[in-house]
Amino acid sequence: MITVKLNQPGFEYDIHSLVKSFYPTEDVSVTAEEKTFEEPVLVHMDVCSTEDKIKADFCHAKGEQPYLGKEVSISGCDRKEIKNRLKRMLYEMLSEDTKKELPWGTLTGIRPTKIPMQFLEEGKSDEEIRAYMEKTYYCSDAKIDLSIEIAKRELSLLHQLDYENGYSLYIGIPFCPSTCLYCSFTSYPLSMWKSRVDDYLDALEKEIDFTAVKFKDKKLNSIYIGGGTPTTLTAEQLDRLIRKLKCSFDFSNLLEFTVEAGRPDSITKEKLMVLKQHDVSRISINPQTMKQKTLDILGRHHTVEQIEETFYLAREIGFDNINMDLIMGLPEETIEDVKATFERLKVLNPDNITVHSLALKRAARLNMFKEDYKDLKMVNTQEHLDVAQKAAEEMGLTPYYLYRQKNMAGNFENVGYAKPGKAGVYNVLIMEEKQTIMALGAGATTKFVFENGHRMERVENVKDITNYLTRVDEMIVRKIKKMEEISWH
Ligand code: SF4
Repeated sequence: MITVKLNQPGFEYDIHSLVKSFYPTEDVSVTAEEKTFEEPVLVHMDVCSTEDKIKADFCHAKGEQPYLGKEVSISGCDRKEIKNRLKRMLYEMLSEDTKKELPWGTLTGIRPTKIPMQFLEEGKSDEEIRAYMEKTYYCSDAKIDLSIEIAKRELSLLHQLDYENGYSLYIGIPFCPSTCLYCSFTSYPLSMWKSRVDDYLDALEKEIDFTAVKFKDKKLNSIYIGGGTPTTLTAEQLDRLIRKLKCSFDFSNLLEFTVEAGRPDSITKEKLMVLKQHDVSRISINPQTMKQKTLDILGRHHTVEQIEETFYLAREIGFDNINMDLIMGLPEETIEDVKATFERLKVLNPDNITVHSLALKRAARLNMFKEDYKDLKMVNTQEHLDVAQKAAEEMGLTPYYLYRQKNMAGNFENVGYAKPGKAGVYNVLIMEEKQTIMALGAGATTKFVFENGHRMERVENVKDITNYLTRVDEMIVRKIKKMEEISWH
């Protein structure tokens, strides 16, 4: 247990994320309350702020003599600058204690490309961006270069569309063939919900009707059907859903229509044919790894051969934009396994790959029952990401979007790579928060972007399916209320 005691509330979230990045396997508690901890305390930090300085001390137990201490002036600083100085001071101490450096330095947010994006929009040079990110956040040169490269590619993609007058649509299908060991998404086993899937589509149709009316004067730029696993729907159900979308919205400004087919054990020729007939332009077939033993550990009930067969089937049917998701840092995978995965992928030659670093959220089985899985080795290093980057390059793919998550293995990032002209527009729009995304379905989060992209407000739908089915009208009212609150037009 690592405890951080503050003399006053403020910055708990940022301090927690930073400390956790240095000690990923430890529980971390950051509080301004007096508390007694049952577990032995490994490191105790006292952070004391006054009007003109912040001081931090490290010791092995509360009240002991500190073995590391620093203080920093905050005189005349605004809240953002106080936060940056505090994080840099803590970073230096944590780095000294652990002898570690973090690739993204003190940056704990999930969208590091927003910084270079904003600077590029203001006309700043690469050198100015580099100097700022290094000095303010202690980011490594490699990550600064990556984020600038991606921000530039995102900007050129955004310039090709009138995103300010448009919006995008996300539809969540929260069913999966089985639950993967690392999963923390809104996902429920199809076997338990099969009889309610049509009710679920009924509820979605209510949200679709509402959205179509409210957004009739806006241009629909992209649609993303995700989950869960959308191809757990039968071919008839997929047909029903997409027909409803086509009847309800004007598709004339649609640049991209993605269906995250996802798990190969849910995909059939019939379903792919339905998607193709309805002009779905981009699909995902996600292996995560091409090592059978890992797929078995993860509880993904499909084979490596099934991934390949499904991929070739999709190509045969005519899909020319296929994404494949991979995860680095999976249980018991060596760097050789990762290399072998990429070798098999190179043969398939997908149009996009998205390389994730394993992020273990609280709700994942791998985290909830961590005692049961404590012997599983999970390693993710820069070498893994370099292997991915090199393989992507060899496949003619370049990085076009990037995001980070909490509790990521190795504290790295997720990167989407694409062939020229095949970058996922929706992914860029959602990452850079450039336009409103209306999100429908259980666990979906709508993001209203307004005031010329300077403000964003979220509206969350309930995650539980029964709740969603019985309370779908309330989900619509939530959106109406938010639209009234922000004077949406
Ligand atoms: S396929 Fe994706 S959403 Fe479904 S259980 Fe696995 S990780 Fe979760």
